[in-house]
Amino acid sequence: MVSSHFRNILLKLGIPEERLSVLEGKGGLVEDEFEGIRYVRFRDSAKGFRRGTVAFENGDVVLGFPHIKRIVQLENGIRRVFRNKPFYVEEKVDGYNVRVVKVRDKVLAITRGGFVCPFTTERVEDFINFDFFRDYPNLVLAGEMAGPESPYLVEGPPYVKEDIQFFLFDIQEKGGGKSLSVEERLKLAEEYGIPHVEVFGVYDRRRIDDLYDLIEMLHSERREGIVMKSPNMKRIAKYVTPYANINDIRIGSHIFFDLPHGYFMQRIKRLAFYLAEKHVKGEEFDEYAKALGKALLRPFVESIHEVANSGEVEEVFTVRVKNITTAHKMMTHFEGLGVKIHIEDIEDLKNGYWRITFKRVYPDATREIRELWNGLAF
Ligand code: ATP
Repeated sequence: MVSSHFRNILLKLGIPEERLSVLEGKGGLVEDEFEGIRYVRFRDSAKGFRRGTVAFENGDVVLGFPHIKRIVQLENGIRRVFRNKPFYVEEKVDGYNVRVVKVRDKVLAITRGGFVCPFTTERVEDFINFDFFRDYPNLVLAGEMAGPESPYLVEGPPYVKEDIQFFLFDIQEKGGGKSLSVEERLKLAEEYGIPHVEVFGVYDRRRIDDLYDLIEMLHSERREGIVMKSPNMKRIAKYVTPYANINDIRIGSHIFFDLPHGYFMQRIKRLAFYLAEKHVKGEEFDEYAKALGKALLRPFVESIHEVANSGEVEEVFTVRVKNITTAHKMMTHFEGLGVKIHIEDIEDLKNGYWRITFKRVYPDATREIRELWNGLAF
C-alpha cells in the first residue's frame, strides 16, 4: 500500500483514484526509500507515467525513460522515421541507463526500473559536475553508465579500459519529461564539462552510404551502434551493429536458460536483416555464419561443462566503491530485484576506493542444465 502522503501526490499528478487502486492492487506502485528520501516507483505505466517513473516525497517526479524505436533495415527505417529531414547521429553506448536528478539536497541516480541505485548514486559525482544541478535543479540528466566494472553488465565498450564512466545522451525536464533540443544539450554538456556520447554529425537519408561506412567502422571497433535523433528530439531511432548482435548472443548463451528465447531470436533477426540489406555473400557471409554459430554454442557448451563438473552457472562482476557500506547496499538492492549475489573479494585500492568482486549465480539455469545432464527425459 502506498501511504496517504504519496496517494495525495499521485492524485495531484492527475492519476484517477480508481486507477491508483487498481495499480496498487497489482503491485504496480512500490514505495521505497534511499538514505532518508522516500519515493514511489512505477512498475507499470499509468496515464502518461511510464514504467520506471519515480515520484519523490517532495513532489518531484522523474518520468520513466522512453522506449526508443528500433530499425533493422537502415535505409528504409530512416526513410520512414525521418523522411528527408536531417538528424543527429550519436553513438549508442553499451551500458546501463541512468537518470540523474537532484532531490532536496541530494543528487540521485535512478535505474531504468525506477530504483535509486546505491552504487551509481555514490559514484556519479566522479563524472558529473554538480554545479549543473545548482543552476538547473529542474533538469534530469539521462545517460549511459558503461565500462568493464559495472554492477549490471559483464562488458563495457572497448574504449572504457577500466572502471566505469558516464555518457550523457538526453536532458529532460522534471515532471513533464520534455527533452531539451540536441543543440541545447550539447551546449550545456560543454559548458559544465559533462561527458557526452560521441556525436558523429548531422546526416539525412541522402547520406546513407556515409552511414553504412559509419556502421562498418563501429562494427570493426566492437561498438554497439547508433541512435539517430531529430534536432528537436521528437523523432528518435536506434540501430545496432552486427558485432553487437553477435556479441549479445555470445554473452547471453552463457546463461541460455535464464533468458527468454526471444532474446536470441531478435538478435538473429537483426543480423539477418543486416546481411540481406548489405547483400553480404561468399566468404564474408560464411564468416558471419561461423561467428553466429560459435556465439550461440560455445558459451552454452562451456556452461554445461561447468555444471557437469559440479559448478554453477554464474557471472563475475567487479565494481569500485568509496564506502564498503555501498557494497552492502547493493546486496540489498539486488535482493530486492530477486537476484542472487555473493561477495567474493574486497580489495583496498589505497586511493579512496575499494574494489568489490561479486558473483551472480543463476540457480534456475544451473538446475535445468543439471537435470538435463543427469539424463532427465521429457
Ligand atoms: P527500449 O526498447 O525501451 O528502448 P531496451 O533496453 O531494449 O529499451 P536498448 O536496445 O538497450 O533498449 O536501447 C535503448 C537504450 O540505449 C536507452 O535506454 C539508453 O540507455 C541506451 N543508449 C545508449 N546510448 C544512447 C544514446 N546516444 N541515446 C539514447 N539512448 C542511448
